[in-house]
Amino acid sequence: MDTKVIKINRDRPEDRLLEEAAQILRQGGLVAFPTETVYGLGANGLKEEAARKIYAAKGRPSDNPLILHISRGEEIEPLVTGVPETARRLMDAFWPGPLTMIFPKSGIVPYGTTGGLETVAVRMPSDKIANRLIALAGVPVAAPSANTSGRPSPTAAEHVMQDMDGKIEMILDGGPVGIGVESTIVDVTGPVPVLLRPGAVTMEMLRDAVGRVEIDPAITGPVAADVKPKAPGMKYRHYAPKASLILVEERAEAAGKVTPAVVCEINRLARQGASEGRRVGILCTDETKDRYSCGVVRSAGTREREETIAHSLFAVLREFDDLDVDVIYSESFARDHLGQAIMNRLTKAAGYQVIYAGEKGEERYAGE
Ligand code: AMP
Ligand code: MG
Repeated sequence: MDTKVIKINRDRPEDRLLEEAAQILRQGGLVAFPTETVYGLGANGLKEEAARKIYAAKGRPSDNPLILHISRGEEIEPLVTGVPETARRLMDAFWPGPLTMIFPKSGIVPYGTTGGLETVAVRMPSDKIANRLIALAGVPVAAPSANTSGRPSPTAAEHVMQDMDGKIEMILDGGPVGIGVESTIVDVTGPVPVLLRPGAVTMEMLRDAVGRVEIDPAITGPVAADVKPKAPGMKYRHYAPKASLILVEERAEAAGKVTPAVVCEINRLARQGASEGRRVGILCTDETKDRYSCGVVRSAGTREREETIAHSLFAVLREFDDLDVDVIYSESFARDHLGQAIMNRLTKAAGYQVIYAGEKGEERYAGE
C-alpha cells in the first residue's frame, strides 16, 4: 500500500486535511498522527477489525491492549461502566493532557481493543492535531505509539516513516512532538490509584491532585516470568535500540548523579569496547559531553531541564541505530519528577543492565 504523508500545521491544523484522515479512520483504516507525547497509530477503537490492523502493522503481541483517545471529557461516558471520584479529580487536573486512566470497560468496547481485558485505557490528548482529528472522526481512536513493536517510540514523522511506510494509509506530519515520552498511566479501578507507567504527569503531580497514589512494581524493576503486570505492555522489552544498552551509575544517594567516577567508568568501558573492535555509543548530557574522549557521543539534553532529555531520548536511541552502534553506555538520572519516566524508559531499553561506577566491570541487575 502507498502511505500518504501530509504536512499539517501544528498550531492551526487545517480541517480540510484532517477530514481526509478522519474518513480513513471511520472506514477502518490506519492513520499515524502527532500527539503531545509521541506519534500515535490510530484506528477506530470500536471496530475489532480496525484494531487488529494496528497489531499487524506494529507486530504487537495481541495481549498488549490499546489506549482509546477521546476529544472531549463527556465522550468517556459510553466507554466505561463508571467514573470514580478520584478519576474525576485527575481528569479535572490533567485533561486534556498526557494522562491515561484505566476504567472498567462498557459493552461497546471490543476485547480486540483491550487485549481481552475487562478494563479499558482512556486518554484525552491536548495536541491540537490529535484532538481535532478525533473530534472529526466521531469515534474513539485506539492509538498505540506508531513504531514497530519493540523499537523506540516515534517522536517525529520521519521515525513513523522508518517503521510504517507501506503498512498504513496515512501519516500526518505535524513536526517533532513536545514531550517525547508516552503518557502517564494510572489505574483508577481500585480504592487507591496505582501508577502503571510514569510520564510527564509525574508521581508528585498526581499526589498533589489526589493524595495517596501507589506504584506498580513493574515500573521499578524487571517483571518475573510468573508475574502478570497490571499494564501488560510493561513485560515486553520496549523502547529497545538495536545495540545493547548499559546504564552506568552511582549507588544509593548518588544514584542518578553524574559524578567523576561515572564519567571515568564510561570512558574506560568505551575504550575497552573500541579496542575489542566494537562501535561504541555514549548517551550523555550537555553538562558532560565534552568529557568523553572515545566513541559516538550524543547528548540528550541538559540536566537543568529534564524535559529536554525526555524530548530527545527516543530520537537519540534511533540515531544510534542508524549509526550501527554495537553497544551504548548511558548516564543515569534521578528517579523522581520527570526523571522517573526517563529512567523507566532507559532501564527497560537496557533490559535492566547496570554497571555501578567504582565496581569495575561488575554487572548487576537493578531491582535485585
Ligand atoms: P502504547 O499505546 O504503545 O503507549 O502502550 C499502551 C500501554 O497501555 C501498554 O503498556 C498497555 O499495557 C497499557 N494499557 C492499555 N490498556 C490497558 C488496560 N486496560 N489495563 C492496563 N494497562 C493497559
Ligand atoms: Mg508503545
